[in-house]
Amino acid sequence: MPGAFPILERSILKAKGISDAQIAALESAGIGGKADFATVGDAATLAEIVPELTPEVAAKVMAWAVGAPAAPAAAAAGTPAKPILIDSPDLVYCVHCGAKQPKDYSSGDLCSACGKQAEAILSCFWCSSSGPGKFCRQCGAQFVPTGDFDLAVHLKREGLPKDEVPKRLAAMSPADRDVLWGRVRKLRG
Ligand SMILES: [Zn+2]
Ligand SMILES: [Zn+2]
Repeated sequence: MPGAFPILERSILKAKGISDAQIAALESAGIGGKADFATVGDAATLAEIVPELTPEVAAKVMAWAVGAPAAPAAAAAGTPAKPILIDSPDLVYCVHCGAKQPKDYSSGDLCSACGKQAEAILSCFWCSSSGPGKFCRQCGAQFVPTGDFDLAVHLKREGLPKDEVPKRLAAMSPADRDVLWGRVRKLRG
């Protein structure tokens, strides 16, 4: 015989908008008291094992039985963005060993863990000098990913300003890139 709710809990469930039929469904699923909802765990599971409950009602019931279902969800939704802000975008990870570099790291320093140049050396599409970091030390152009280098040089030849080239590349769709690569290859002959 599946559990049966005590009268008080039955009254509360009814007050939450749960019909006798739904209470019977809860009971035949083996839920016969407030403590059983803790075993169920969350509203989604409750709605799964008792399909007679709408998700809304299941959520209400769980809020009463196990408390504040919104809190963990809100916390989960809030967490992804914040550590990224704390983990400043200037943090550098060694390209050789992956070690996080100290806060006072500056471009060109050697990795504190493995002793190699922590950042990849990139070539400047604008003035052809090369160096570590995000920006060219000679001309101030923003480095583009190595795979975009030829495209960046091409955009420069087409007359795009120094600041615009990295932005244009970042905004390009794969199809745009294909078209641009077509032009680059044609020029190479
Ligand atoms: Zn390293
Ligand atoms: Zn440069």
